[in-house]
Amino acid sequence: MIYDHPLIGWIYRSCPLPLQNAMVSGYGLLQRKERHSPEFRRILAELKRTERSSLAALEELQAECLRKLIRHAYENVPYYRRVFEERHLTPPDIQTPADLYKLPVLTKQAVRKHADDLRARNVSRHQYWIGRTGGSTGIPLKLLLDRSCILFDHALIRRLWSWAGYEPGDRVVILRGLTLVPPNEHRGTYWRYDWGENKIYLSGFHLSSEVMPVYVQKLREWKPKFIAGYPSCVFTLARFMEHAGEQIPAQAIFTSSEKLTELERSVIERQFQCKVWDRYGTGERLAVTQQCEYGAYHQNVESGILQVDSPLGQPAAVGQKGMLIQTGLTNFSMPLIRYAIGDIGSLVNGKCPCGRGLPLAGPVEGRKDDVIVTAEGRLMPRAGLDQIYEFVQNIERCQLVQRRVGEVIIRVQPRPGFNHADSEELVRQLRKRLGVGTTIGIEPVERLELTATGKQRFIVSELDVDRITGMGLDLQSWKEKFSQT
Ligand SMILES: [Zn+2]
Repeated sequence: MIYDHPLIGWIYRSCPLPLQNAMVSGYGLLQRKERHSPEFRRILAELKRTERSSLAALEELQAECLRKLIRHAYENVPYYRRVFEERHLTPPDIQTPADLYKLPVLTKQAVRKHADDLRARNVSRHQYWIGRTGGSTGIPLKLLLDRSCILFDHALIRRLWSWAGYEPGDRVVILRGLTLVPPNEHRGTYWRYDWGENKIYLSGFHLSSEVMPVYVQKLREWKPKFIAGYPSCVFTLARFMEHAGEQIPAQAIFTSSEKLTELERSVIERQFQCKVWDRYGTGERLAVTQQCEYGAYHQNVESGILQVDSPLGQPAAVGQKGMLIQTGLTNFSMPLIRYAIGDIGSLVNGKCPCGRGLPLAGPVEGRKDDVIVTAEGRLMPRAGLDQIYEFVQNIERCQLVQRRVGEVIIRVQPRPGFNHADSEELVRQLRKRLGVGTTIGIEPVERLELTATGKQRFIVSELDVDRITGMGLDLQSWKEKFSQT
């Protein structure tokens, strides 16, 4: 966000509260202006039209966008010119997404290594933003993103919101890791108003037992129709509400940026008495999937091509899990073609009862940091392990820390009343899931640390899961592992 800019951030933090709200609202007004621009309205209208197109029409649209991207990459991006020449390929060899298999997978390591060669030579500085995406690895990746690509992404979000009934001007609460509220806030105001877009930003960095009652009160007073945020933040608040016997009806909850587990979904839906609409998007602005009212994840084929590779680098069968490979169709400053984002997912056949023509995909799972490795070498994903929350009331949050295979520490941020029996129950529940071979310890802490972007990681692993499993981001070791078996 703009407040992450060093100078603007410094000015912002130096201002009194009313001026901070004025600055946030001013930025909101700029955003509103963008969303009322003819360009934004044109993209949104087009997206609303294409979501109802037939699969054949969407495939043709994707192929057409792909041919344009490939031509551009060949002519203007040194990295791709080299890749094409090494393989004796020219743009006419890539006509459809299936032809992309003629090109190599682009790993994050390769993007880091060839960053300058991936920059299109015919794009001038004012046409792109410089973005960074760290993801679960924590090592930031510098990306150039067309301004029009970001606008397109905003239109995709608006399309999803409109599926849930959002109209411009509706009250929205944003609950995620934002630096708008200083970490040492002492005035008791843990939110900032954006009157420009009729939003309140609640800080995801302040979700403590002292502050959450204040959040609940704010939600009751302000009555937002929609809440958008990280699953971990909304879940933490919903779980607090459950404990406090509070329910606050909303029209829809939008989650994104982290994997949403079934437990999180059920607690959030119960406490806010509405559906969760989950979205899988990434900082790279590539292929995005998002849920419709039937819970199916639809691919936004207009923004990117989503492919799923088997361990041997072949297309995985429909329904079979594999490595997600994405090709972004809207970013020309730094095209990412056959990009391995490091997530695991699947494609799904069939038509959704909602009637939209956008093809389907399975939920994304198995992000690299989301596994515990048991003493027996089993990989335990976060989904399922987080059920231990259900058995102990006196905890605010907990987190599983793994430094060695077969050893896990449960870090607990306790509530008043947390006792030995709670500790034992947590260990018992986790042991039920991990098996008896894994050593489990408990470490109460005053406050669980969040990531720099305010996400709460349920699993913090210091293990080199790539090396242990041959899965994850390191494509070569993934292939070697599977070619041996
Ligand atoms: Zn649908």
